[in-house]
Amino acid sequence: MRPSRRSKLFAKIAICIVIFLSLVYYLNLTNVFLNSSDSSPFEAQNTSHRSNFSTSLKNNKTLLQIQNNSLTNCINKCTAALKKQLYNVWCIFTKVASNSPMKRKFRTFFDSLVRFSSGDIAFHLITDEESQSIAENIIDYVLFVYRKRVQVQYYNVHKSAKEIEDIVSVMSSFFSSKPGTYYSDALFFISLGLHRIAPLNQDMAIMVDADTKFRSNIKELFKEFDHFNKDALFGLGPELSPVYRHVLFLYRSKNPKTIFGEPGYLGGYPGYNSGVILIHLKRLRESLEYDQIVGRDSVEHLVEKYEFKGHLGDQDFYTLLGMERPEMIHTIDCGWNRQLCTWWKDRGYADVFANYSRCNSEVKLWHGNCNTPIPVD
Ligand code: UDP
Ligand code: MN
Repeated sequence: MRPSRRSKLFAKIAICIVIFLSLVYYLNLTNVFLNSSDSSPFEAQNTSHRSNFSTSLKNNKTLLQIQNNSLTNCINKCTAALKKQLYNVWCIFTKVASNSPMKRKFRTFFDSLVRFSSGDIAFHLITDEESQSIAENIIDYVLFVYRKRVQVQYYNVHKSAKEIEDIVSVMSSFFSSKPGTYYSDALFFISLGLHRIAPLNQDMAIMVDADTKFRSNIKELFKEFDHFNKDALFGLGPELSPVYRHVLFLYRSKNPKTIFGEPGYLGGYPGYNSGVILIHLKRLRESLEYDQIVGRDSVEHLVEKYEFKGHLGDQDFYTLLGMERPEMIHTIDCGWNRQLCTWWKDRGYADVFANYSRCNSEVKLWHGNCNTPIPVD
């Protein structure tokens, strides 16, 4: 072999060895990475990232949980606060075009309601189309004058009456002087079925006649719900005239020792006036008994038992219910429904009238019933 050919062969072998060694080295290196365990710095870093990530995920989750919990707490508190703070006041305002004095009465009523309120009232008006536009003007004006916000909701009287048709049908046959007269109208029995008309989120409500005038914050009257016994469904003030002495004349002559129809101030039971009614809507909706109590058989039984000849709408029923089931009616202070009507005084009851109209409490609400003017104060 010639030296040049030999050296070429050596060079070729050397190149092969270098390539071989490089290959081995490369493969080795690759293996290091491919077989690297958790302890490899790369992996370690990754693990630590992962663990940091999972820790922070955990932390974030806890944070989210805390935030979520506090959000739920906040929502619960806010809902409770809203529920607690909104005072649902109901009133009926119908046939106003044909009863224009009602317009003036409503202005006095709404003005006094807003004047003493602390801006936390939801006002619900059961009305008809024509009366609603009159009410809207009065409401807008009063709210503008006092710069107060009141949530106002209107309900159609015919629609509302439809929802309580069964109750109206029973009541009007017993507690109206003649069906078709003033008090036989459905509107005089609406309070007895308000739990069907009012939105379900309302648990308690106060219904007030439009011929009234507040001298106090209605919020104070809502506190009376706290004094309801566990069976009480309604809260009403005493009737301050001898009307039920008159209505119960037959029963009283057969039961001379009865307290029914006697004046409250002498420990008697004068009946109730429905110018102001506290209504425990939630209990009424949940009551297993109420539908039966306002049913025809039950009302007929009461009317016959007490030989009751009523004509004053819902308050006749409340008066009978208070006689039969006193636990269902909470009596509110006479100052919260200070009636001014003296009609019975000149109808043979002049000698006893003062015993009935007596109310020594501070006047919180005037009730100008039977069209009696309300004092300006
Ligand atoms: N009412 C009404 N339109 C009428 C009559 C009565 O909206 O035509 C409403 C109004 O809220 C009124 C309540 O029904 O205050 C009860 O009637 P009213 O006060 O005249 O009866 P009273 O208290 O004199 O027995
Ligand atoms: Mn009235």
